[in-house]
Amino acid sequence: MSQTVDVLILGAGAAGLMCAIEAGKRGRSVLVIDHARRPAEKIRISGGGRCNFTNIHCSPVNFLSANPRFAVSALKRYTPADFLKLVESHRIAWHEKTLGQLFCDDRSQAIIDLLLGEAERARVRFSLATAVSDISKPDDRFLVETSTGPCRATSLVIATGGPSIPKIGATGFGYDVARRFGLKVISPRPALVPLTFDEALRDRTKHLAGISVDAVVSHGKTRFREGLLFTHRGLSGPSVLQISSYWQPGDTITVNLSPDENVLDRLKVVRKEQPRQDLRTALADLLPKRLAQFVAELHGLGGRLADQSDKALAKAADAIARWIVKPVGSEGYRTAEVTLGGIDTDELSSKTMETRRVSGLYFIGEVVDVTGHLGGYNFQWAWASGHAAGQFA
Ligand code: FAD
Repeated sequence: MSQTVDVLILGAGAAGLMCAIEAGKRGRSVLVIDHARRPAEKIRISGGGRCNFTNIHCSPVNFLSANPRFAVSALKRYTPADFLKLVESHRIAWHEKTLGQLFCDDRSQAIIDLLLGEAERARVRFSLATAVSDISKPDDRFLVETSTGPCRATSLVIATGGPSIPKIGATGFGYDVARRFGLKVISPRPALVPLTFDEALRDRTKHLAGISVDAVVSHGKTRFREGLLFTHRGLSGPSVLQISSYWQPGDTITVNLSPDENVLDRLKVVRKEQPRQDLRTALADLLPKRLAQFVAELHGLGGRLADQSDKALAKAADAIARWIVKPVGSEGYRTAEVTLGGIDTDELSSKTMETRRVSGLYFIGEVVDVTGHLGGYNFQWAWASGHAAGQFA
């Protein structure tokens, strides 16, 4: 069936729905197409099923982009307080977890229902389970060929996200659309993703799988203090997911496994008070026992404290506070929460999200080269960029 609309949005995720609502509120006729049977699958699985829908500390420093200034305008015009107001107007119970992260008390579905309810009020129409086969702009309107027939639109908004978690329908479709119109794309790569060890280190750490500690993980000057989790393949947990967005193959990361303690001072005190204690026992007071054993074996540490020189204790302290790790890779798009890179922001207006070269073509959300830290920032970018485009499309 052939149809014509003012605004055609590809992708019924966080950004696409927000844009649809805003454009619909302006009286534009809006159609949202998605190839998935259900809208907003990523919202449903987000935040462990409770959707970390924003972060009250959101600021541009929480985002990675080739142009860190690009996101400033949209983030300023639609803030965490704005989204929270919407959440409260739908009487959705929420709580702050840690570090300003706001979660639903119950299921993430509440956020999807909120967006679909608002979209209905704004008379947005949906075409789900619909595949897009071709996009062109033969005249002043876009022509989009789909499995349910062609659609013509004055404005075309690409909100198809990034390729992380392909099993729920994520694709790199948006990058293909950009290339088709001659727009630059910054090479995408998985981010907020567990890091993996080589076989030798994997074998040595397999038995640590499931152990988690509070840690500081650094890459150059960038550091995050949050949980660190040993997995069967390497490292995960919030601090490692965060640093994965900065890590590149070949790089090392530095891990402080006991950030609250001056380990050297502590070992010196124990040496004085309990000189006959073994160094390994002293380390096991600082770390979970199996982890302490691993650290001792990795660095050849052990023997009576009385026999340890200051230099030997400094080596032990470094083994805990400055463990230098060289991951060989990441778990990839299969488990990555987001995708770094995407449509080069040089191609877009930071006010409207419209491309500079193709009038009426917009890109919003994760498909754009703006990637947030873990903690609600990625949804805030989806809301803010969707809201910005929704005022103009
Ligand atoms: P998406 O939400 O991915 O929506 C894209 C839509 O486009 C999808 O519906 C998809 O089906 C559709 N689509 C894709 N290709 C095509 C195509 N070819 N044709 C038609 N439709 C297509 N961020 C947070 O801020 N807080 C969290 O708690 C959080 N938890 C997460 C947990 C997990 C497991 C994952 C994977 C991500 C999480 N994120 C979280 C990140 C967040 O989900 C994304 O950044 C956000 O969903 C991006 O919104 P978007 O609208 O740009 O893309």
